[in-house]
Amino acid sequence: MDLAFTDDEEDFRHRLRAWLADALPTLPDRPHPADWPGRRAYDCGWQRMLHDAGYAGLHWPKDAGGQGATPTQHLIFLEETERAGAPYVGAGFVGLLHAGPTIAAEGTPEQRARWLPPILRGDEVWCQGFSEPDAGSDLASLRTRAVRDGDTYVVSGSKIWTSHAEIADWCELLVRTAPVNADAPKHRGITWLAMPMDAPGVTVRPLRTLAGTAEFAEVFLDQVRVPVTHRVGEENDGWRVTMVTLSFERGTAFVGEVVACRRVLEALARTAKANGRWDDAVLRRRLGRLAAECAALWRLTQWNVSEAQRTGGVPGVGGSVFKLRFSQVRQELYEAAAEVLGPDALDAGQEWVADRLSSLSYTIAAGTSQIQRNIVAERILGLPKGR
Ligand SMILES: Cc1cc2nc3c(=O)[nH]c(=O)nc-3n(C[C@H](O)[C@H](O)[C@H](O)COP(=O)(O)OP(=O)(O)OC[C@H]3O[C@@H](n4cnc5c(N)ncnc54)[C@H](O)[C@@H]3O)c2cc1C
Repeated sequence: MDLAFTDDEEDFRHRLRAWLADALPTLPDRPHPADWPGRRAYDCGWQRMLHDAGYAGLHWPKDAGGQGATPTQHLIFLEETERAGAPYVGAGFVGLLHAGPTIAAEGTPEQRARWLPPILRGDEVWCQGFSEPDAGSDLASLRTRAVRDGDTYVVSGSKIWTSHAEIADWCELLVRTAPVNADAPKHRGITWLAMPMDAPGVTVRPLRTLAGTAEFAEVFLDQVRVPVTHRVGEENDGWRVTMVTLSFERGTAFVGEVVACRRVLEALARTAKANGRWDDAVLRRRLGRLAAECAALWRLTQWNVSEAQRTGGVPGVGGSVFKLRFSQVRQELYEAAAEVLGPDALDAGQEWVADRLSSLSYTIAAGTSQIQRNIVAERILGLPKGR
């Protein structure tokens, strides 16, 4: 087996590295974490730069407007952008990392043509309207109703924890289109819709987080009319489409952040050397163990990405193993950061504090750790269902 990079891959790396060296100094300053419109403009601006340089949707298929890059090129892209300190996907998260890939995999040619190019150009931002007050882990219990009226669905209900809802143009929305009864189990009557966030009847009420920012919101839907042409997949077949979305969300959406973890770790080691904490052997061992965890996560990422490519582009349940461990390592990393920085963390800049606080949410967002463990137990290990 040859694990070396090919000449083409090395060439790709060098071209990307050179482009990043020119492009990054032209970026404006990153807006304050609480400035959501500013963050949208910044993140979309970066996406536009990637697009114009031919790096948008690198791993998306060519017929979906992507670059059709190999998994190795994609991983090189993530490594190089992270190494250069390039911005993270930010407001483009849902569109680029799971709504877009879902539409690419499941949408009609018209839907692909309508929604994918603006995502790739950074012109339109998406949010995810899956969770409801009584339907988070048990997503199939969702109650937001859509009733067919000619060429439209009339949608009423509410969603919660909708990240980026305030600045989104579109929502990947799950609705109930068939009542639950003995013949129709709850996951059978669900439909996946693309809903414009500026449609009459959509009300967004921001929720303030522990970190002091309103990164997500409650979304209330009162007789919102969504054209039937905005339905991705068949009516009542939304659960299957949702599984595609979730496999992207858990399988590949957090990949870039693994590389970011390594950068955080290196910054911590530098800080510990500078402030004397490096003399503490227990802390050094802790950082060393985290470095090993990050390396293992990167290997798991490589495996997941190449497995997805080999089996047709949609990540498999291995994503749950990744999501489970990644969210734990990220928390442990920021716990270690709090120890290295001590009280200085409060002066170390808004981002350290915000990152430490938001790291707590990773074991809940995109499916809790308990749910990932259930998936690993049932679908990978073949253990019987708990209930
Ligand atoms: C930062 C963040 C961003 C988010 N962004 C979005 C978003 O953009 N769009 C969106 O739709 N949702 C979003 N969510 C919601 C997230 O998907 C849900 O919070 C998550 O799925 C858990 O659902 P819940 O909060 O209803 O908890 P519940 O489902 O009520 O769970 C409560 C507890 O019970 C446990 N539990 C429940 N069922 C089982 C079981 N069968 N076995 C074992 N344990 C179980 C859970 O693990 C958890 O610990 C976000 C959440 C966070 C934290």
